[in-house]
Amino acid sequence: MPEKITVVGSINMDLVTSTDRMPEQGETILGENFAVIPGGKGANQAVAAAKLGAYVHFIGRVGSDVFGGRLITHMKEQGVSTDDLEQVSDEPSGTASIILAEQDNRIIVVPGANNTVTPEVVAAREDVIAESDIMLLQLEIPLESAVKAAELAAAHDTTVILNPAPMQDLPKALLDNVDYFTPNEHELLPLFQNEPDASIYHSRCVMTKGADGVLFTEDNKERHIPGYPVEPVDTTGAGDTFNGALAAALTRNVPLPEACRFANAAAALSVQKMGAQGGMPMQHEVENFLK
Ligand code: ATP
Repeated sequence: MPEKITVVGSINMDLVTSTDRMPEQGETILGENFAVIPGGKGANQAVAAAKLGAYVHFIGRVGSDVFGGRLITHMKEQGVSTDDLEQVSDEPSGTASIILAEQDNRIIVVPGANNTVTPEVVAAREDVIAESDIMLLQLEIPLESAVKAAELAAAHDTTVILNPAPMQDLPKALLDNVDYFTPNEHELLPLFQNEPDASIYHSRCVMTKGADGVLFTEDNKERHIPGYPVEPVDTTGAGDTFNGALAAALTRNVPLPEACRFANAAAALSVQKMGAQGGMPMQHEVENFLK
């Protein structure tokens, strides 16, 4: 069996309406198109890693509504293990209502069932966490649940990758149990601003810099792994592809610089297609790109 990645995270249905202009307050207008697309940072990163051949187990929750069933089916179709993706009856599935107009967007996220991924739900999966090589975390579930997940992972020597998005203040209990932070350029500075020992954490950062690739520290020196020059069509989810690919490469014991190169390549392929999950490449596509 391939090495295992466990994602404890969010899963949403994105409800995307495109229109030629934003409606005014109190106004009803006719839109141009509507699409229902699986998303959520946790789900996106899980799918990215699974498409690259990793064995991925997802711990999360959806509602008992029509989106919940579709999201579970979708994750299975993408090759993600959904034994711990549960349907709950007291909350709706997480949704992101997105309006695209005039090259701009307006988004309302309702976390719904994602908020029921409590520390107790996470603790009940300690056996799964214990047998995982890597845990991949983001911050779209309750913060105390991410803290618990990282604590259990650390207790079982499972490597923790934290993509600190959306940005928020993080307790030391979480910071101390993370092996790799993967902020983007905007998320890095505020991440450790209240920490007297910020340099310890900085040395564990793999910072993504969009088309410019990534920066990390090796032997106390900053190292830059450049991105691949491509013509981007849609950069939504570039960071999610990067994180899933980084985790997939690290489970194969690839050294960090090479894992970053692989993740840069996967993300460069993903930005050439529309949609977050829609553009995520398969393993052979990344291999061909890197030839
Ligand atoms: P997003 O929020 O859009 O998912 P992010 O802000 O979390 O992304 P970025 O730093 O923008 O993350 O991008 C992540 C990685 O994706 C980069 O390190 C790089 O490998 C790749 N990438 C992003 N944009 C481009 C681009 N225009 N061309 C090539 N690679 C890109």
